[in-house]
Amino acid sequence: MLCELLIKNGLIIDGSGNPGFYGNLAVKGGKIIAVGKIECEAERIIDASGLMVSPGFIDPHVHAELTVLGGYRFEEFLRQGVTTTINGNCGHSITPYSSDNIYEYMSKKGLISVRAKEHYRRVIPAWNDFSSYIEVIKNKGTNLNMGFLLGHGTLRWSVMGDSKQQNPTVEQEREMSRLLEKGLEQGALGISTGLAYAPSRYAAADELIQLTKIVKKYDGIYTSHIRYQIGILEAVREAISIGETVGLRVQVSHLTPTVPEAFAEILAARKRGVEIAVDTIPKTSGHFKRRDRFLQFIDSASFKPLAAVLKGAPEAFPTPEARRKLLKKIRFQERLMVFNTDNPQMDNRTLKEIAAEQKIEVAELLLQLLENQNDKLTFCQGGLNRWDFPGLPYGESVTDNPLVMVGSDKVFGEIDDPSDWYELFRNGAFPIFFGLCRQKGVKLEEVIRRITSLPAQQFRLTDRGLLAKGKAADIAIIDIDNYAYPSNSEIDYKNPLTMAKGVKYTIVNGQAVLDDGKLREVKAGQLLSKYGQRL
Ligand SMILES: [Zn+2]
Repeated sequence: MLCELLIKNGLIIDGSGNPGFYGNLAVKGGKIIAVGKIECEAERIIDASGLMVSPGFIDPHVHAELTVLGGYRFEEFLRQGVTTTINGNCGHSITPYSSDNIYEYMSKKGLISVRAKEHYRRVIPAWNDFSSYIEVIKNKGTNLNMGFLLGHGTLRWSVMGDSKQQNPTVEQEREMSRLLEKGLEQGALGISTGLAYAPSRYAAADELIQLTKIVKKYDGIYTSHIRYQIGILEAVREAISIGETVGLRVQVSHLTPTVPEAFAEILAARKRGVEIAVDTIPKTSGHFKRRDRFLQFIDSASFKPLAAVLKGAPEAFPTPEARRKLLKKIRFQERLMVFNTDNPQMDNRTLKEIAAEQKIEVAELLLQLLENQNDKLTFCQGGLNRWDFPGLPYGESVTDNPLVMVGSDKVFGEIDDPSDWYELFRNGAFPIFFGLCRQKGVKLEEVIRRITSLPAQQFRLTDRGLLAKGKAADIAIIDIDNYAYPSNSEIDYKNPLTMAKGVKYTIVNGQAVLDDGKLREVKAGQLLSKYGQRL
């Protein structure tokens, strides 16, 4: 037998949940051709002695649909062993209509900076539907596999604008349905919602049911950033009920591990026959937003006087009325932390602490900072450990629940300006999840199953997620004793590009993109549709 790559002597954890074993694995033409006690004449041999060999990990919750267009290298994913990401989550997607329409949506929602919007417009070829968007990426190439969802928020906004109308008119519903169907036909994996955000939040369950009936027709998935405003448990029940009513697959997005009853509810639904699973962000800091992006997010709640702020005009805060309105838009002011200020005494501290020391009101301090500080001033919302994703050992409802996978929810960010908006710990979502589960005694085989074959099954990536003959050769080779991400005390909170360690090789479709710890310039990623089809 001849093969291109032979991986020898590794501990093979095949993704199925079955017991691991020591053996070899052969790759040819981007596919696995044999696993087990096999030998073959190989162009290249990787000695995996002392290392784990598993399927490449699948991250079901990512927002890289625009960064990929800029030629992003996805190093932070590859260094965690991730080979596939699912994009277009939380209701935000890259269709419908023109690319200009999408840039407008993304910047209005604060998801890309005004500068990035102009930059993309200038340098990225335009597209006008799902297929032509895919062509743009194909021409550019990518080093990770990617699949895409259609976003309900983007669809609704494109058809109905910012309307708070609960029910679309007959024509509006028809247009949304048409656009959805077109995207699904062109290979999108399903629909995502962002029911806590405008405009998705205005949609009643009935609208979602009508739309997901179309998704069901294509065996697509319904992923949901749930309606938090009605309570987490209630919101999970709504997602389950849509799945049950329509008979379609459901993925509950980034569910906080602090609500065990919601995880139990999901498991109960699965036992009733709903095909449902859930992803969770294992740990996160609050959002770090530089001054300009912080203001842009406030502006995305359509506060008129702020236009002046974005232009940097000092008259942005002209009247007590404008100042009052601005402050009303900023939540949890006391807990905001500041970084990169002109005064080192203020750095890494909360507004509450600083205001108490300076004997002024928190609100006044905040306005002073927004008005007078340098452009690098960065706010962290939520503190270095967000209470809802604290990175503490999971409770049994999470560790024992076979339906829980990790979703990094890596924020959009910008390639040439990564400090403008970021979160710590998300670049380490997989090693952190791995560590938290192992700490609670979850078997290695089970942890790996949850981040490989489980998401593959959910998104119908039938040729991925397992190390078996005929499957795509997406493989992670990891030194599991050293698979880790910096802790709170180790992490440099000013570095949005902190990477995980412990992954030696990340092989994407048979090619080592991370090769003995070094990133290679290989665009081995494929764009994925269901049932092993490539876009
Ligand atoms: Zn979300």
